[in-house]
Amino acid sequence: MKSVVTYDLLIIGGGISACVFASKYLKNNITKKVGLIEIGRGLGGRSSTRISKRYKGWKLNHGSPNFNISNSNNNLILKRYIDELLENKFIKIDDSGIFFLNEDSNLETKKKSQFSCGINYLSLDSMSELSKMIIHSNNSKEKIDFFFETLIVDMKFNDKEWLITSKNGDKFKSKYLICSTNLLLHKRSLKILKVDQIPLRKAIPFNKDKKIDLLLKFLEEQTFIPRLTFLIYTNENYGYKDYYSKKQRYFYLNNNLEKKYRFERIIFQLQDNNKLGIVIHSKNEDLINAYIRSKDEEVFKQKIITNFNQLFENNSVVNQLTFDEKISIMKWRASQPSGIAVPLSLQFSRKYRIGFCGDWFEGDGFGRIEGSILSALILEKKFKT
Ligand SMILES: Cc1cc2nc3c(=O)[nH]c(=O)nc-3n(C[C@H](O)[C@H](O)[C@H](O)COP(=O)(O)OP(=O)(O)OC[C@H]3O[C@@H](n4cnc5c(N)ncnc54)[C@H](O)[C@@H]3O)c2cc1C
Repeated sequence: MKSVVTYDLLIIGGGISACVFASKYLKNNITKKVGLIEIGRGLGGRSSTRISKRYKGWKLNHGSPNFNISNSNNNLILKRYIDELLENKFIKIDDSGIFFLNEDSNLETKKKSQFSCGINYLSLDSMSELSKMIIHSNNSKEKIDFFFETLIVDMKFNDKEWLITSKNGDKFKSKYLICSTNLLLHKRSLKILKVDQIPLRKAIPFNKDKKIDLLLKFLEEQTFIPRLTFLIYTNENYGYKDYYSKKQRYFYLNNNLEKKYRFERIIFQLQDNNKLGIVIHSKNEDLINAYIRSKDEEVFKQKIITNFNQLFENNSVVNQLTFDEKISIMKWRASQPSGIAVPLSLQFSRKYRIGFCGDWFEGDGFGRIEGSILSALILEKKFKT
């Protein structure tokens, strides 16, 4: 039998909210031993970067390409944290071109998307590196162990201690537990993790803790927006028609255009080797279903290029693709929480020594990185072990 490692604190998930929480916790609790468990191969979660093994030298931000902070309530904790990231040179103000395409595929430079309101920021490196830099900035004593490619499927709370188990049977113990994902709290866990009860409900039965009961009730009503992301590795000589040298360039489609072309947003990402990567996001159900049903992925990919070329046919800055570009497709079944947001008052149960953070909490950053960062900062303040 494998030995069970015990930590002061375990964090499930390695997205940006987990990294912000861990970084602050490590700074304020220098003697504590922390473990972070993530199913992916690295940090970043839905704001991470695909470093292609097949196509050398390409790094594409395939989830959130940048992030925007509106901070309409002028929250000082959030403001100070963003200033800290700027001072540390982890991020910079994103002054990339943002264009809204109207029906004639003409360009308007008006900012009016949930992903571009407020101030936009860009990681100085990639989005995955941002999460890494955040965590490592306060990990000089190497007090955190990382467990990647580890999927937690079961959680138990006994004798003031958490015991969590991975799909492979690895076991971890801790005094405190943080869930930065709501997968283990939501009914979608039944299908995804192939378990017969929502793991948190199994660990804390009904009527034991009002906060946990309420949290689970709110989550019953939370839905998710699925998305497809297409990563296009363009050919050697592909570039813009004009002279544009900033790192990213964003094209948003208005509603009618989104219905017609089934794309939501197109992000051009300049690579270190000067090649131009293109990332296309779609939340169009017909397109997602067509992808699921497609028997020949190559034919499906060619249709994506056809759509792209039609959309940008008369565009003054974007060139046509040639059909021999390489494309990878990423399917996000829960790219963004939607519907009901969870109140921040339910973030921490002292009785059960468990805390929660992520973009699924209430506030104007709901469903975005802003919400992930803010909820992590607020949780860390509540969390005095
Ligand atoms: C295509 C796309 C585009 C987006 N665009 C934008 C944008 O422009 N601006 C913006 O602000 N936001 C955007 N978002 C949303 C943004 O990416 C998220 O709000 C943010 O990254 C969420 O961070 P998080 O740490 O809260 O959650 P996550 O990043 O989801 O982190 C949770 C982590 O937990 C891991 N995990 C889950 N369950 C388990 C388990 N049982 N065991 C182990 N590990 C587990 C997951 O693998 C994941 O890495 C976009 C998202 C997508 C997918």
